[in-house]
Amino acid sequence: MTSRRVLPRPVAADWAWQLRAACRGGPEAVFFHPDLERGSARQDRDERAKAVCARCPVIVECRRHAIIAEEPYGVWGGQDEHERRLVIARRRRDNRRRGRARVRSEV
Ligand code: SF4
Repeated sequence: MTSRRVLPRPVAADWAWQLRAACRGGPEAVFFHPDLERGSARQDRDERAKAVCARCPVIVECRRHAIIAEEPYGVWGGQDEHERRLVIARRRRDNRRRGRARVRSEV
C-alpha cells in the first residue's frame, strides 16, 4: 500500500488562496507594467495595484508565493518588483549564511 506521506500535496490546496483574491476578475494591466512604462506613470499604476492589495484578504499568502517563486514581474502581495527583489536577495543571502553555518556545525 502506498504511504500517503510520500505523495505530493494536492495542487488545488496550494492555489486555493487565489479564489479569495481581491484582484480576481479585475484588470491585470494594473498589476503588470506595459513595455517602456517609466517614472510617475509606473509609480501611479503600482500605487493603484497596491491599494487593491491593501484590502485583499490573502495578501500574506500572495506575498509568500511571489517571494518563493521569485516572480519577476508585477505587483504581488502589495510589493512591486523592486521591493520584492530586495526581499529575495536578503532571503538568498540568509539562506547561504544558514547553509554555511550548517556545514560548519557538521564538521
Ligand atoms: S495581494 Fe494583491 S496581487 Fe495578491 S491576490 Fe491580493 S490583490 Fe491580487
